[in-house]
Amino acid sequence: MPGPGAFWIGEEEINEVVDVLKSGHLSRYGKLEDPNFRHKVISFEEEFAKFSGARHCLAVSGGTSALINCLVSMGVGPGDEVIVPGYTFVATMSAVLFAKAIPILAEIDDSLTMDPDDFEKKITPRTKAVIPVHMLGNPCRMDRIMEIADRHGIAVLEDSCQACGATYRGRPVGSFGKMSAFSLNIFKTITAGDGGMLTTDDDELFTRAFAFHDQGHLPYRAGAEIGGRTIIGMNQRVNEVSGAVALAQVRKLPLIISTLRRNKERLKSRLQGLPGFKFRTINDEGECGTILTLIFDTKELADRFCKEVNTKVVYESGWHVYAHMEQILGKCTSTAFKCPYECPVYGREVSYTSDMLPKTDDILMRSVNISVGVVDAALAAGFGVNINSTDAEIDRAADKMAEVIQKISF
Ligand SMILES: *Cc1c(COP(=O)(O)O)cnc(C)c1O
Repeated sequence: MPGPGAFWIGEEEINEVVDVLKSGHLSRYGKLEDPNFRHKVISFEEEFAKFSGARHCLAVSGGTSALINCLVSMGVGPGDEVIVPGYTFVATMSAVLFAKAIPILAEIDDSLTMDPDDFEKKITPRTKAVIPVHMLGNPCRMDRIMEIADRHGIAVLEDSCQACGATYRGRPVGSFGKMSAFSLNIFKTITAGDGGMLTTDDDELFTRAFAFHDQGHLPYRAGAEIGGRTIIGMNQRVNEVSGAVALAQVRKLPLIISTLRRNKERLKSRLQGLPGFKFRTINDEGECGTILTLIFDTKELADRFCKEVNTKVVYESGWHVYAHMEQILGKCTSTAFKCPYECPVYGREVSYTSDMLPKTDDILMRSVNISVGVVDAALAAGFGVNINSTDAEIDRAADKMAEVIQKISF
């Protein structure tokens, strides 16, 4: 079961897609004066840029592509170290590897996002960038992360894939760092089945990102230009059908977020004051509201709770915890996490072990994710409600949790 945007695919998406198909023009490129060019990708980019307070938005083929593109555009390369949190989707680490750089793992705190103090401790002379991940819709502590990064001259790339629509101190996530990556896969707040986007205020970075996403071309090529390509790029382009879906979805984003926040408050209010756990720290009330996280006082309480509602603690969810990323664990030099291709060896030797972040392990072993809007067993959020749940269904889920919490704490 997917994220909230997927639950709300309807007439609007159908109409936008039919508009494209009737025009017969499926490429993102075209002449604006051509009536058959429906320019859905461009419209989506413009609307998302406005929504997220960025000068530029570029639609790309996915959140992973967006991360790789941003790192390359920012000049991250062989031998550079990039600090990432130990609790994130594996793509945050693998993007660093595909940029031929070295991921350095940092602890999370009880907001389940990067611990700013540990970020600072992990800085070396080789540190080129940091990727704060706004995990489970919760914005990172961007005030402290930006202050530390600026003081050390480190570039910030925000991984906003799980927090599209969130704000921190009144500003959209993604507007703090040099660049930001977003995802449109089906588990995210809005979706186009797959796809993603990146944002930046920097004209030069946008030009490079555009070029990387389309074989080195400068923005908005009109045809098959000869010459003028300054870098080697790849193909991360998005077509008009995906653009059409994304356009309809971005227009639903404010209502999706307000609905989730309201539902989460309702769920939370019925658990307030019960013993044995606390809620994950929410760094700003501008969060997405996709997930409610309970952090129990002990691992034993968390395990007993999970058994009763047939779910798992976050540590055991597998997919987003560094300790279970078998593809990255091991003793590696530079990019030699077990790369799918022959990597040149640069930099210092870094080893990745399943117990290297004890604080992260401790928090995640006691944490339970309850779905409010992203119903995903891989996030260990198999229990909970979805965006279409009625108040009665939300209350039933809350009452069930309250009953279990009472039962296990005596
Ligand atoms: C989903 C996600 C990604 C990758 O996005 P895709 O569109 O699936 O490539 C990257 N980082 C985080 C934190 C994510 O949740």
